Amino acid sequence: MNQSAGKRLSKEQVHKKEKEQQLCPVYKKCGGCQLLHMEYKRQLDWKREQVSSLLKPFGKLEGITGMENPAHYRHKVHAVFGRDTRGNAISGVYKEGTHIIVPVDTCLLENEKADAIIKTIRGLLKSFKIKIYDEDTGYGLLRHVLVRVGYETGQIMVVLVLRSPVMPSKNNFVKALRKEHPEITTVVVNVNDRKTSMVLGTKEQVIYGPGYIEDKLCGLTFKISPRSFYQVNPSQTEKLYRKAVEYAELSGKEVVLDTYCGTGTIGMIAAVKAKEVIGVELNKDAVRDAVAGAKKNQIANIRFYQADAGEFMTDMALIGRNVDVVFMDPPRQGSSQAFLDAVVKLKPKKVVYISCNPETLARDMEYLSGKGYRMERGRGIDMFPFTVHVETCVLLSKLKSAQHIEVKIELDEMDLTKAESKATYAEIKAYVLEKHGLKVSQLYIAQVKRKHGIIERVNYNVGEGKAKVPQVPMEKEKAIEDALRYFQMI
Ligand code: SAH
Repeated sequence: MNQSAGKRLSKEQVHKKEKEQQLCPVYKKCGGCQLLHMEYKRQLDWKREQVSSLLKPFGKLEGITGMENPAHYRHKVHAVFGRDTRGNAISGVYKEGTHIIVPVDTCLLENEKADAIIKTIRGLLKSFKIKIYDEDTGYGLLRHVLVRVGYETGQIMVVLVLRSPVMPSKNNFVKALRKEHPEITTVVVNVNDRKTSMVLGTKEQVIYGPGYIEDKLCGLTFKISPRSFYQVNPSQTEKLYRKAVEYAELSGKEVVLDTYCGTGTIGMIAAVKAKEVIGVELNKDAVRDAVAGAKKNQIANIRFYQADAGEFMTDMALIGRNVDVVFMDPPRQGSSQAFLDAVVKLKPKKVVYISCNPETLARDMEYLSGKGYRMERGRGIDMFPFTVHVETCVLLSKLKSAQHIEVKIELDEMDLTKAESKATYAEIKAYVLEKHGLKVSQLYIAQVKRKHGIIERVNYNVGEGKAKVPQVPMEKEKAIEDALRYFQMI
């Protein structure tokens, strides 16, 4: 008999469980694939709905672009190393929200070669007397392994994250590793001697090859160092970048600003169709890679600056520089108000916003639409199949001041928190649906979060007292509280 927590499971639930088990034996423990139980087509519908409802106040989503074959799309694979209770070496992922290691040999999301390399490294540790780092005692050497695989080039970088720079017989180790995987083109030791949850430290030593890999996207070559940001799903990234450049409708006369530019990918693809491109990025390594990339691709009309994007734009506005199009591709927490104010000061005709978090996207769009920008187009791109995450690309254009209208946002559409929260609304919704079979709105989640004192930014219309606010029913409140507990937010 199939029973769980004293409850008999329905046939459908048993079938769902079996299917999950077949697709991934650690599905429940790992927690990374929140949508594994859904057919891929349903995952796409679910994501399209999430993004559509968040963007509804601003405009219509054109749809969502999925993958033909969604398995093994991650070209950057990270494994944390540890020991099981019997002292055996294990490698895998942290159980969501904890530091407990879930052993993983093969993963549905990860590049298969990368997984095989990590397994080989685990097998070599004993003969090379490499001790695994112990988080509690601080003793041991190997902490993490990072593998990056070039999508078009097939070049492979292995980064060994160690507690100290002294690695015994490193040359022989590389030899043994490359004997099994001759396709590895570079090996780097990264030193992380701090008690931190950051994977990579700041010191690096190249022990084999050039210390970076190159990859090709949209016909251009990009240099990728261990610490530079590079999208993890290259085939979908090509579609995303093409869409972003299409939205910008470049004619060859425009001055373009690529903010949060990483290794300069979007800016370089846009440069062929623009008069001039300026890229701005905070990470020094990424800027160095961007400059090398521009040289390699012989793109002469692009320059890169290492700076905070908001401060950089404020300075540009101060000196009266004209910018026609701003691409912005911020991290999950979205943009800061300072950045958005700088966009407003710079007055570009178009803003192409690329976002990996539709909640912060909606929050930032609310701000920009209050300052005279209107959503013209928008599309979801599924960069992260089987997970709740989704990428969105939106075109905003500046209204002439006479046309300028204030967009009124309903309370339940706008009550978004900043990214201090550990799980997004989409993750909480997915959890509640999966565990309790209940559909809950953002408004309800926000109400429960506020009840527990974990809402940061208050919605803009609260003071007006006009909106009728439905109150969260008890059953849903309990389910949401369970999710908040699960994500360790309360
Ligand atoms: N557009 C790039 C990178 C996007 S990821 C691509 O598609 O590959 C976001 C990038 O923003 C990261 O490279 C990060 O280092 C950078 N970043 C984060 N905060 C920033 C800030 N305040 N100013 C400039 N860049 C920032």
